[in-house]
Parts: sequence; structure tokens; C-alpha cells
Amino acid sequence: MGDRMEYINQAINAIEAQDDTRVVHVSSLIETKPYGGVVQDDFLNGCIAIDTLKEPEELLDFLMDVEAQAGPRTLDLDILMYDDLVMNERRLTIPHKEMHKRLFVLEPLEEIAPYLMHPLLGQTITQLKEKIKEEQ
Ligand code: AMP
Repeated sequence: MGDRMEYINQAINAIEAQDDTRVVHVSSLIETKPYGGVVQDDFLNGCIAIDTLKEPEELLDFLMDVEAQAGPRTLDLDILMYDDLVMNERRLTIPHKEMHKRLFVLEPLEEIAPYLMHPLLGQTITQLKEKIKEEQ
């Protein structure tokens, strides 16, 4: 909602401002229609790659702080993958549970990491994206 591009830029700046984290790649942003017939602006989706010394839970806490600073229903930051870590905890599932089903994740992610291997599915981001496209 609101100035979507500005929220995303602010989030990237907040991440970049951390001493223990570096933004390595930023994808372009794609527009997605909200589903469920809710009246709201289209979503703007993108992916970034970071190098970080934060542990996964610590990273989640930090991203939730950044979301909170942006205000309610403006910004949704998810951890898609973390190296080739596989974890399934109450607060955190990595790789993200839905990432391989969502074209609006796979398309921007492919731009910055086409050969990245999904540690559970054993397929690259490009392969996962092609599979979803075939199914459509
Ligand atoms: P949502 O607003 O739908 O993105 O859901 C946010 C909640 O999902 C957070 O409270 C997290 O505890 C939980 N969660 C589980 N796995 C992840 C992940 N890989 N990245 C971000 N949030 C996650």
C-alpha cells in the first residue's frame, strides 16, 4: 500500500545499514494482482541476496522490526533460503514453504540466482520456475 517502491527502498537501506549484513544483489520488481477479490493496490515483489552474520532467527527478528517500522500492511519481508539450510521451527521454515509455488517469487529470484539449488527439491530456481510456467 502507499508508495510501494519507497517502502522497498527503505527496507533495502535498513538492511544495508547493518554492520553485519551486506546486500549483494537486488532483482527488479514485478507487479502482482492481489488474490481473493480484496480491493487493494497490486503487490510489488522482488528478491535480494544478502551476506549476513546474523543467525536465521536473528535475521527474522530484524526483518520483522523493519516491517514494523514501515507500518501495518505495507511491507512483507520473507526469508526464502539461507545457504542450503533446511529448518522447520515454530517461527521459521526455511526454505520458505511457498516459494517454489509462486511465480512472483521465482521470477525475481531467478534474475539474481538462477542456478541456486533448492535444498529439499533438488532443483534450481530456473527449473522450479519452468515447472510452474508449464503448469499454468
Ligand atoms: P507472513 O506475514 O504471511 O509472511 O507470515 C509471517 C510469519 O511467518 C512470521 O511471523 C514468521 O514467524 C513466519 N515464518 C515462517 N517461515 C518464515 C520465513 N521463511 N520467512 C519469514 N517468515 C516466516
